Amino acid sequence: MKYEAIIVGGGVAGASLALLLGQAGMKICLLDKGSPSKIQKTDLFKGKTASLNLASIDFFKKIGLWEKVNHSSKEFTNIEVWDAEGSSKIIFNAKDISRSKLGNIAHNNTILTALYDLLKDLPNVNRVENVSVSIIKEANESIDVQTDSGLSLTASLVVGSDGSMSSIRSLSSIPIRTWSYEQTAIVTLLESEIPIHDTAYQIFTSTGPIAILPVRVEEEELASLIWSADKAYADKLLTSEPAEFLRELKLKTESKLGSFKMREEISSFPLHQLHAKEYFSNRAVLVGDSAHTMHPLAGQGLNLGLSDVIDLSERILLLRREGRDIADKTMLKSYSDSREKVNLRMTALMEAFKRGFGSKNPWIKLGRNLAFDITSNNKSLKKKFIKEAAGIT
Ligand SMILES: Cc1cc2nc3c(=O)[nH]c(=O)nc-3n(C[C@H](O)[C@H](O)[C@H](O)COP(=O)(O)OP(=O)(O)OC[C@H]3O[C@@H](n4cnc5c(N)ncnc54)[C@H](O)[C@@H]3O)c2cc1C
Repeated sequence: MKYEAIIVGGGVAGASLALLLGQAGMKICLLDKGSPSKIQKTDLFKGKTASLNLASIDFFKKIGLWEKVNHSSKEFTNIEVWDAEGSSKIIFNAKDISRSKLGNIAHNNTILTALYDLLKDLPNVNRVENVSVSIIKEANESIDVQTDSGLSLTASLVVGSDGSMSSIRSLSSIPIRTWSYEQTAIVTLLESEIPIHDTAYQIFTSTGPIAILPVRVEEEELASLIWSADKAYADKLLTSEPAEFLRELKLKTESKLGSFKMREEISSFPLHQLHAKEYFSNRAVLVGDSAHTMHPLAGQGLNLGLSDVIDLSERILLLRREGRDIADKTMLKSYSDSREKVNLRMTALMEAFKRGFGSKNPWIKLGRNLAFDITSNNKSLKKKFIKEAAGIT
């Protein structure tokens, strides 16, 4: 079967790209090794959440997704960051950048469900689930894809949106730089004694950062926990009784949000950093976590993945309108260079935060207290940080 593009990986990045290109009339095949279109109602509020910045929300509006996601998401207007090892705290407020909010937090499963609901109405997007790609073969003006289930497909371009362990990246021999953070992210849903309303909390502790984010679950306002903890400590937390786990969380958050109740089962994710040295090879190109995977501490991974999708789709659609090859090498190189620059800058920032706050060195501790004070008192620096987090350039 011949397509214009085959998108391998139907997570939020891949499915959004399929929707956008499908809406533009392109003939697309979207493959996934799982079945992201069949998320059960009971699983909608399980697993990871995403703090969507204003740029991602604008993109969701453009593809008609926002009206389906908005009602099950929660907006946040403040980000409060504090350092459990020091005395400093910074509050970022949407008003500082003359906006009414900084973003919305939604469960990944609710975003995926909304995406697949829209995709099912596009007859030009063929969805194939529960398959993996086993072989890709470059031809002169096309690329052939074979799946483990025996499907044989052809397209002008293959997009790898198949996450951190990308098969397209390895089948295309795209080299990477990677290392483990030696941390595990522990994720669950909480009810906090002191309601968090519209504030996203980020607490830096000696064993790793804790994010507590406001979420909406049906009509209830709860909190999403993303506790990135050093591996041995995380293993201990994961095997502890829920009451003990919640006691430890209260201790780590210095009782500022009171006690917690657990409202969902825990899931956990080993954390590593990964960056592809180039985002393409011949007729294969990467978007999202397959190109760059970073620490979740500032909630930017998916936002950057969606910016990849916006950038790549604009370039593909321009070439298509001009009747040119959508896998044009100059275009793919330019996409790769421009996205790598932005994504590497954010990765470096996350790395600096992670290392700076993980350190017990008294000079680094003093330095970060000073950095908190300087940022808090310097209006333009503060604005710069907020704009970066909100995805406003
Ligand atoms: C705990 C945690 C919290 C986070 N919070 C935030 C946040 O608040 N904000 C934010 O912006 N980012 C956040 N992130 C990052 C964000 O979750 C990821 O960047 C995002 O999910 C990546 O999306 P993706 O579509 O690129 O990849 P994925 O979500 O990994 O999707 C990949 C898809 O490809 C499929 N697939 C995998 N291998 C194959 C294969 N061989 N063949 C076919 N299909 C395959 C998978 O089944 C999956 O459907 C967080 C990450 C973690 C770990």
